[in-house]
Amino acid sequence: MNLNHSFSPIYSGKRIFLGLKDLVVSFYTAKCPYNCSYCNLSMKSHPENICAKTIKNQIDQVLNDYKDDLPSFQLLSVGNEGSILDRKRFPKEAFDYLIGQLKNFPSLEILSLETRPEYITLSIINQIKMETDLPLIDFTIGFETQDDYLREVVLNKTLKKHIVEEKIKLLGECGARLTSYVMLKPGPTMTEHEGIKEAIRTIEYLKEQCEKTNTSLVIYLNPVYVAKGTPLSQQCALYNYTPPRIQSIIEVIAGTRHFNVPIYTGLWSEDNAQEKGDYLCLETNNNAIRKALIEYNKYQNYDDILSFVKN
Ligand code: SF4
Repeated sequence: MNLNHSFSPIYSGKRIFLGLKDLVVSFYTAKCPYNCSYCNLSMKSHPENICAKTIKNQIDQVLNDYKDDLPSFQLLSVGNEGSILDRKRFPKEAFDYLIGQLKNFPSLEILSLETRPEYITLSIINQIKMETDLPLIDFTIGFETQDDYLREVVLNKTLKKHIVEEKIKLLGECGARLTSYVMLKPGPTMTEHEGIKEAIRTIEYLKEQCEKTNTSLVIYLNPVYVAKGTPLSQQCALYNYTPPRIQSIIEVIAGTRHFNVPIYTGLWSEDNAQEKGDYLCLETNNNAIRKALIEYNKYQNYDDILSFVKN
């Protein structure tokens, strides 16, 4: 069933992302068909398909809401709490319309599309290249962890490494960039130290894969929050899981600094966390570190966090 109501995007906002003025939009569409054990984003989406016209209306709404800022955005990050390249949930007609509207962003340097990697194809990359003169296209995926057991069994990600590696190669061949979410402490039985080590290993793995294929890489590091009503939240309760400390984010950044990979940290659960489900609930939460990380997110200036790095 296609619905033709008037809907607004789930989220839109401005930020500085690695030095660029970024407009972030999450469109309201049908919910993601995957069942990752830690994710409750589907609760924010629609249970049924939404027609292209309704999504195009959302695009118009965003353009209107930010009309004064459009000339200054350098980055446009778009998603739909799932995969914006999933044609069933974000129809081609709406996607083509979105690409056509990029002409309203005269300073745009990067278009970032959040999607499962399975949907990234050469024809989509070629379409964007042909229809725009953007310097860079970015694809943001949720690889989360290089540990196969954690990713496939605990997180139920159904995302094999060979798929990710194929897509990294494709992006390298096309001159596109990969941004990957990496989870800090994703296992319900993990100690803090294990969580830090695992995040560092995952960043190292992605860096190695991207180096092989000359693909630019950005890491979006997410300190795990326990999302309300998810299968993983039950496991976390069973094992008395404690969310990662904010200090551990610093340790991951410090421990991967020599890789020279930009790291942006997600410091907000977007109200998806259950009560006491994220680092903000911990006694170890430290507002000074949080502020330093917010600054680090903007410009990757290591001096912003240096005083919190332990030798
Ligand atoms: S994590 Fe991504 S792919 Fe998995 S269920 Fe959530 S939105 Fe879908």
